[in-house]
Parts: sequence; structure tokens; C-alpha cells
Amino acid sequence: MSRIDLHTHTNFSDGSFSPTALVELAHQQGLNILAITDHDTTDGLTETIGAAQHLPLEIIPGIELSTEFQGRETHMLGYFIDLADPQFQARLERLRATRLDRLHHILDRLHTLKVEISLAEVEHVAGSGTIGRPHIAQMLIEKGYVKGMKEAFERFLGVRGAAYVRRVVPEAAEIMSWITDAGGIPILAHPYWEGLSADKTVVSCRTLVDQGLRGLEVFYGTFSARQISTNLNLARQFDLLMTGGSDFHGTFKPGISIGTGRGGLRVPPKLIDHLRQAAGR
Ligand SMILES: [Zn+2]
Ligand SMILES: [Zn+2]
Repeated sequence: MSRIDLHTHTNFSDGSFSPTALVELAHQQGLNILAITDHDTTDGLTETIGAAQHLPLEIIPGIELSTEFQGRETHMLGYFIDLADPQFQARLERLRATRLDRLHHILDRLHTLKVEISLAEVEHVAGSGTIGRPHIAQMLIEKGYVKGMKEAFERFLGVRGAAYVRRVVPEAAEIMSWITDAGGIPILAHPYWEGLSADKTVVSCRTLVDQGLRGLEVFYGTFSARQISTNLNLARQFDLLMTGGSDFHGTFKPGISIGTGRGGLRVPPKLIDHLRQAAGR
């Protein structure tokens, strides 16, 4: 039986594993299908596909993009994107510029809090990848300001942290059209519907579907049975595709294993057939 994980990050965004190391790990763990969904970049896919070439491991091209939906930051996954699409790549480049903007603001705020971290230091941690908050967290740990990732986010970088800066990102509708324009399938990542009543959840989901949403990430590394069942019902109600994945980030997200999340994640392998069909692959 195949084992699949459709949501993972490499060090081309905020994962700690290189594409080659991630492929080796996925193979060791018995996965047959692996999607790379780095934030704002598809640059890690060439190495990933090369590393998996001689293994019984199929790589699905993916991406994860931050959007704004009804005033909240909402993540959108895109699968089977045409990686060479020049318009899509230009759009990604603009997105990455907004990340850099935000990074400057966060470092300024940290400075006013007498926490000294330089852009060069964060860039060094991120290597050639998309810079994210986990890279700043890594420096906070290395310089002894905090003990671990959790504290870094609680005290400084998370929504309630002292140096939190909201990133200005495009609306969900716009990001979904980017994915569709590039031949990909937009899927709502880790949908929590947090704080919404059952009725409002349905209304929100309908709005996204009207705007071009094609599927939900029903299965996720940290979801409860209840969250999974809400998403299953919505997927059935709106005839949406279903996906699932661990959101593996390596050491940048402790406690999440590739393929199994916190241990209980099982992504039904047949989901990939529907996704493939929808993408015409
Ligand atoms: Zn996400
Ligand atoms: Zn993710």
C-alpha cells in the first residue's frame, strides 16, 4: 500500500532538511508519494525530483502561499503547478519581497526590545531559502535570548509576541487565481474554522469555493478527529478534493514526523488519484 505525505517543507523555505535529506528521510519512512510545499518558492523542487529519481518515491510539485481571508491569515496549498510558468514565478518573487520587508520590521522591533539580531545573521541561517520567522527564532536560540522555538514564538515572534509584525499578503481569491493560472489546484491548508459556528463555517467555505477553491487539506499532522470530521463533511458537501499531510519542518517544528505528524496521521493514498485526475496528470 502506498504511503503519502502531501505537505512538507525543505530548507528552501522554513524547513531544516535539504531536499536531498528530506527525500532520504521520506524513503526511509516508507513513503511512496511526497509533495514539497515550500512557502513562496518552488526552487527546491529541482533538487527534490533529482534526489528521488532512482527511488520508488514520486514527487508531487507543490507550494504553500499565505493569503488574507475574512481578515485572517489563511494558507493556501497549490499542487501540480507548472513550475516554469514565468508569470507565476514573477508573482512569487514579489511575494518574497514582502517577506523581506516584514523581516526588517521584526528586526527593528527586536532592537527596540534590546534583542540584537542582524539581517546578515538571519540570512545566514536561512541559506538560499525563503526567510521565515523560524530562522529568526533559530538566531534567538543561538544567541541565548530564548531556550527553544516555543519560547521564541510565545515571547517574540508569534501573534501575541512582542515583536510580531503582520505580513501584508494578497487576498485568498487572488492567490487561488495565481495557482489556477499556473495550471495548479488550490487547496485550503490546515482549515481550522476556528471560532466559527457550524453555519458560518459553511458560509466561509462556500465563499472560498465561489472564489475558486478546489479542495481541503482534510488530514493534518495536528488535527483532532473532530476537526477531520468537520473538514470531511465540508469536502463532501461542496464536492471538494481532499488532501493531507504532516506539515513537516524538521527541527523547526519539533514533534511533527514526516508521514505521521504527531503519530496518528494516516493520509488515505487514494486521495492522490483524484488530485491527479483533477490536474489532468
Ligand atoms: Zn501553513
Ligand atoms: Zn506548511
